[in-house]
Amino acid sequence: MNTFFSIIFSSFLFLCTSCASPEAETRVISPKDFSRELSENYNATLIDIRRPDEYQAGHIKGARPINWEDSTLFYSEVTKLAQTEPVYLYCRTGRRSAEAAQYLHKQGFNVVDLEGGYVAWVQASMETTKYESDIFSTNAGRKVSITFIKHGTLMIEVDGTIIHIDPVSSYAENYESLPKADIILVTHEHGDHYDAKAIETLSKSNTAFYSNKRVSELSGKSIAMSVGDSQEIANIKITATAAYNSSEGHENFHPKGRDVGYLLDIDDLRLYIAGDTEPIDEFSAIQNINIAFLPVNQPYTMTVEQCIQAIDSIKPHIVYPYHYGNTDLSPIVDHYKENNQIEIRIRDLQ
Ligand code: ZN
Ligand code: ZN
Repeated sequence: MNTFFSIIFSSFLFLCTSCASPEAETRVISPKDFSRELSENYNATLIDIRRPDEYQAGHIKGARPINWEDSTLFYSEVTKLAQTEPVYLYCRTGRRSAEAAQYLHKQGFNVVDLEGGYVAWVQASMETTKYESDIFSTNAGRKVSITFIKHGTLMIEVDGTIIHIDPVSSYAENYESLPKADIILVTHEHGDHYDAKAIETLSKSNTAFYSNKRVSELSGKSIAMSVGDSQEIANIKITATAAYNSSEGHENFHPKGRDVGYLLDIDDLRLYIAGDTEPIDEFSAIQNINIAFLPVNQPYTMTVEQCIQAIDSIKPHIVYPYHYGNTDLSPIVDHYKENNQIEIRIRDLQ
């Protein structure tokens, strides 16, 4: 089983107390050691157990917010964690994390608690972020970190190569705290996807900038990609995919042939960033997807029913609904609740 699929597989292993390892241990370690161990183990689970307001004000990169004080949420989220890897956790100063560590230890997890909590982390001048991100690894051992910025805007890091997707200044505090781009991908010219100011801010002398044809004409800077075109850079294969409205009366929002989505092949990991689209015939050729971003806001993109239709057609292992505005995503989550092949992940992209 390759690395990625072992992560997927293990993420679906449900905890059972009867299989708790008697050797499970809890360690409390300094910010420096905590940081070093996390950088050496991409598969480790990192949990920020503080309240949502504390998390949003700043947290350790890659941390999942699971509020210890919301016990129903905490217990249900913990049952989804793999016991094959240690759980790293922290709170503000170490009081709440000591309680949570004790609970997790009883469930059979190896637990690593941050000594002095987030306060000590900040005092030690360790890196923090306001954005949520998930981390994956490829079979070649490359670390892939996906940062959820807002709406259709994402940042993906592949072992230090920074890819900004549909960057929009107002969604990312003018990109003041985020790194410049090695690669920029823009799907189409709508203001929630193409922002010349963000392109300017993020560009370096050697930034590769790809987009649909219209953005290439508007910007005068990007390399235009048509559906089916591929580029390879930093051992990442980028392929443009079709993105358009297919239902009657909606065709003019995103007419067929104008916009694109992107497939990213990074070793054995295949990501699909759909752009603004409804379910289309071309989905039949979009297969073997590990991670898919699908837009869910009608009338411009998909309804929740169409999103379910798209998921059933593409069959990605992990789905991130994005570009969702105020759409109630719970029907999608409920639909795949019992499905061990498809995991729906809701991240803060509003
Ligand atoms: Zn659009
Ligand atoms: Zn849009």
